Amino acid sequence: MKRVVMLTALIAAGAASYVVAQQGGQKPMVVEVQKLKDNLFVLTGGGGNTTVFVQSNGITVVDTKNPGWGAPILAKIQELSPKPITTIINTHSHGDHVSGNVEFPATVDVVVQENTAANMKEMMSPPGMGKPGANKPTIFEQNQGKGLPKRTFKDRMTLFKGPDEVELHYFGRGHTNGDAWVLFPAARVVATGDIVPGKRVPIVDSNNGGSGMEYGDSVAKAHSRFTKVADTFVTGHALTMTGAELIEYATFMREFAEAASAAKKAGTSVEAHAKSYAIPAKFKDYTPAQEPGVRSATQAIYDELDAIKPTGTRPTGR
Ligand SMILES: [Zn+2]
Repeated sequence: MKRVVMLTALIAAGAASYVVAQQGGQKPMVVEVQKLKDNLFVLTGGGGNTTVFVQSNGITVVDTKNPGWGAPILAKIQELSPKPITTIINTHSHGDHVSGNVEFPATVDVVVQENTAANMKEMMSPPGMGKPGANKPTIFEQNQGKGLPKRTFKDRMTLFKGPDEVELHYFGRGHTNGDAWVLFPAARVVATGDIVPGKRVPIVDSNNGGSGMEYGDSVAKAHSRFTKVADTFVTGHALTMTGAELIEYATFMREFAEAASAAKKAGTSVEAHAKSYAIPAKFKDYTPAQEPGVRSATQAIYDELDAIKPTGTRPTGR
């Protein structure tokens, strides 16, 4: 009997180390907790930020990290509260924000923007990231559809009531064509997802409908909607921002697009512009611009400008 238990333990340990190895390193899967309010937390590590909102009768989770990180998130949430997880909101379709969905109970209600629901069926990587075909079968197909959204919204949706309320918003294309912004009104906190990744040049994922030309405007719309109702913005991959930092990010992306448009007009190649681009000094504490991120965002903008029809109408994305 003892031997059986030992053997089971060994197999379990083996399985755990396999999962760790799958993450591309020997690092243990550590989820760290940042407390924003008594009932609102940010879990870091393992991909994009995860926001956890403990409500009267359950828990809402925003984003679920890379493959294999659902279980570590669940374990960490259980340390924070014994309440059941009722709802997952995914801010967009990228694998480092949605993959943990498949490890949550099948009863959890998954809610996303409608374009993100379409993108989650394909799980395309951004241009230049991920091998062609590596998205198929998707993590959801491998799990018989578990973790896919059953509810979607277009521009706005309200979940729950009173102190439990959660508001979902979509303000237009940016990182993808389905970037959801999640407001927790009682806490005056917004989870932004990767449309605000942190103070740096973002990924403009044209494979999932992202837009470099519309990016800054979408962020500015969010700022004007939230400026009176939120003080703290949980970014996709860095820590939090203030409202002032959010509108600064909108300006940063508008100017990034203007610089790329001007370069294109002047006949500068994508490569040459990306090489010469540096983040203007007025944007303090920004991560220095790096290849291939700048090239990829610049390429997206050049392609969008090429796609503008002679009548001046812009494509609206897929
Ligand atoms: Zn992303």
